[in-house]
Amino acid sequence: MLKVRDWNDVIDILYFGTKEDILSLACPDCGGPIQYQASASCSTFQVSCVACGVLSRGHGIPDDLACVKYFGESYTIPARKLAGVG
Ligand SMILES: [Zn+2]
Repeated sequence: MLKVRDWNDVIDILYFGTKEDILSLACPDCGGPIQYQASASCSTFQVSCVACGVLSRGHGIPDDLACVKYFGESYTIPARKLAGVG
C-alpha cells in the first residue's frame, strides 16, 4: 500500500511511479479523484483534485514522466472507493 501524505508524494509518484502506483493515487486531503496536466514543451506540470480543488504544480519536469508514458499528457485518475470512515 502506498503512503501518500501530501501533494509532493503525489507528484513524485506521477513522475516516477508504476502504472499501478499511479492508478491508486487519490487526493491526500479528501480522497477524491486526481487530475493532472503535463506540458513537456513548456516544462509545466499541474495536478489538482477534482473534488476539493486543491492544485499543486511541479517544475523542472523530467523528460520521461511515468504518468505521461502510461496515460498521456492529461488524465483524470478515477477515484477509488472511499473508506467511509467517520
Ligand atoms: Zn481533494
